[in-house]
Amino acid sequence: MTLDVESKIFMKKPCILCVAITGSLPTKADNPAVPISLQEQIESTQSAFEAGATIAHCHVRNQDQTPSSDPEKFSALLEGLKEHCPGMVIQFSTGGRSGAGTERGRMLPLAPDMASLSVGSNNFPTRVYENPPDLVKWLASEMKRYRVTPEVEAFDLSHILTAIRMHGRNELYGKLYVQFVMGVKNAMPADKEVFDLYVKIMNERAPKAEWCAAGIGANQIIVNEWAIAAGGHTRSGLEDNVRLDKNTLAPSNAALIQRASEICEKYERPVATWRQTREMLNLQIEI
Ligand SMILES: [Zn+2]
Repeated sequence: MTLDVESKIFMKKPCILCVAITGSLPTKADNPAVPISLQEQIESTQSAFEAGATIAHCHVRNQDQTPSSDPEKFSALLEGLKEHCPGMVIQFSTGGRSGAGTERGRMLPLAPDMASLSVGSNNFPTRVYENPPDLVKWLASEMKRYRVTPEVEAFDLSHILTAIRMHGRNELYGKLYVQFVMGVKNAMPADKEVFDLYVKIMNERAPKAEWCAAGIGANQIIVNEWAIAAGGHTRSGLEDNVRLDKNTLAPSNAALIQRASEICEKYERPVATWRQTREMLNLQIEI
C-alpha cells in the first residue's frame, strides 16, 4: 500500500466553511470591509470562495445600509454569485431582522440552493426574535415547494429537537442541516458543555444529518475551533464578527475564512471543495 492510498483512507472528513458576508447589522462604520452594494458583495464572496468558503450566507441591504428583503436584490446577487463563484452553494437568509412575517420568505421562489430557517423563538440583544409556529411552518413549506434545503439556525437546544422532529415528519426539504449559533447576547452563550451536548444529540438522534456551528463576536474563532475539532462544519464572516482580535478589524471576509481554514489544517481536516459540499448536503451537483 502506498503512502498516498493510506493517507486517503485515513483522511478526515472535509470541513465545509460557510461565509456569512454581510448580515443585517454591521455597517461600514463598524468595519469598512462589510460588503453592502451588490458589487461589493460579489467581490467579497469571490475572495472568500477562493480562500475556501463553499457556502455563501447572504442578506441584502438598501443603499443606506439598512436591511432589505427585496427579491430583486436577492435575484441580482444570485445571478452575480453564480457567474463569479461557480459551484458555490448560495444560501439566502430568511432571518427576522430584514422583514416581518411572510415577507421574510419572499425571495424563496428564486430557488437558491439553501435558505436559513429559524424554527423557534428566543431573545436577541434588545428584542424577542419571533418565530411563531405558523410562520415556521409556512417558511418550511415554501422551501419544500421551491426545493430549497433549509439550514436550521439553532439558538437553543429546543430548536435542534424541533428540527429533528420536523425532518422526521418530512416537513423539511432535503438533508437535515443544523447550525448551532452561540454567543448572541441574551440567547445561548458559547458554552462548551452545551456545545458538546448539541453534538451528542445530533450524533445520536440524527446520525445522517450534518451540523455546523457559528460563534458571534469574539466567540467566532472559539466556536470555529470547537466545530472543526468535533468533526462538524463551521461558519465565519463579517456578519458574525468584524474583528480579527480585540484591536484589529478583519480586513475582509476572506481573511476570516483563511483563519478558519488554518484551524482545519491544525486538526488535519481538509477544507471541503464546492463539489464535496454539494455531495455532503445532497445538493444539485450539475450547476
Ligand atoms: Zn444571517
